[in-house]
Parts: sequence; structure tokens; C-alpha cells
Amino acid sequence: MRIVLMGPPGAGKGTQARRLADSTGMKHLSTGDMLRAEVAAGSELGLLAKGFMDRGDYVPDSNIIAMIEQYIADPAGVLLDGFPRTLVQAESLDASLEKAGLPIDKIVHMTVDTDELVKRLSSRAVCSDCQTPYNLVSNAPSREGVCGKCGGSVNVRDDDKPEAVLNRMKVYEDLTAPVLSYYQLRVGVTEIVATGTPDSVYEKISQAI
Ligand SMILES: [Zn+2]
Repeated sequence: MRIVLMGPPGAGKGTQARRLADSTGMKHLSTGDMLRAEVAAGSELGLLAKGFMDRGDYVPDSNIIAMIEQYIADPAGVLLDGFPRTLVQAESLDASLEKAGLPIDKIVHMTVDTDELVKRLSSRAVCSDCQTPYNLVSNAPSREGVCGKCGGSVNVRDDDKPEAVLNRMKVYEDLTAPVLSYYQLRVGVTEIVATGTPDSVYEKISQAI
């Protein structure tokens, strides 16, 4: 089974995809996590990707496709999170799946309004040393800007700052509208309003799948 989870940055795709992967045994493929791992490892792709990500832009399709194609045929099934985001990616993905005889079963599109997303994303912060995640509204470090675990510095990632978030939203909408139309015609798109608690959103997605 191949499920594509779509939605703007901050819609909670990662959280929901991990939970679905845990309960179904499917492999969670997050292009964001895969790219951040490349950045952390300082690989050639990582260095290239960092420049794009820091500006809130996308890494070029050809790089993403090469990275993800090695995992697409996993027999446990795949939950795609953050891919495809462009029409070119969707068409390339379909070409790969057609070759492997593994069609996409479901597109789930999570929607959240822009103000809510900016609020959510710009409150996320992370320790630059030990990578412990914080939320500046609901789970702030007890000393401002200082990691409670290791004393490292806690910062909002450049691509989560309000200006970068607005840019990511605009890029997302421009690139994703044609992808949604494309899938609407082929396999259909299930729209999920992703406001409310993670539990209630998970419930909606489970029912859709
Ligand atoms: Zn830390």
C-alpha cells in the first residue's frame, strides 16, 4: 500500500505519518527528515540542500527523486510525507511506481489556515547541540534560549521563522495546486481539516485510509 500524505509545512504531517507507520508497519518516508540527515552528515547533497532550506525554498526535484527512489518499493508499504510536492515529482513518482507495479492507493491532503500555521511553526525551537525539540508556547526551556538538558542554545530554525514560513506557504500553494488536480483525476484526493488535537486528526486520517 502506498499512501501520500500532503499538506503545508506545519500541518502535522510528520506526527501523523509516524503514528500511522507505528500502527500499520508501513515505512515512513519523510523527505524533510532525510534531507536534514544529509545536512547533518555534511554530504554533498546536504550542503547543496542547506542553502535552499535556509531560505525556505525547495531542494531541486532531481536531487529529491534520486534520494527517494531507492526506498519506494519497500514491501511493507510506504507512507510518503513531503513528497511529491510538484507536478514533475508526481509524474516521476508515478513513472517509478508503474515500473514496479505498485500503484498509489490514497492521497490524503491535510489543510490548516495560514495564521494558525505561522503561529505553530514559529513557536517550534530546537537545541542546536543535542537536538531536543521545544515549543516556545507550550514547552519552553525554563531558562530562555538555554537547553534544559545540555545547556546548549535553543533556537527557532531559520525556515520556521515567520517570513520564511509565509514564503514556504506561498511556494507550497503554487507548486501543490497542480499536484492536487493531477491526483484528483487519477486516484482521488481525501481532504482532512487538520485543526484540533493530534488525536482527533489521527482519527480522521485513519477513517479516510
Ligand atoms: Zn541540548
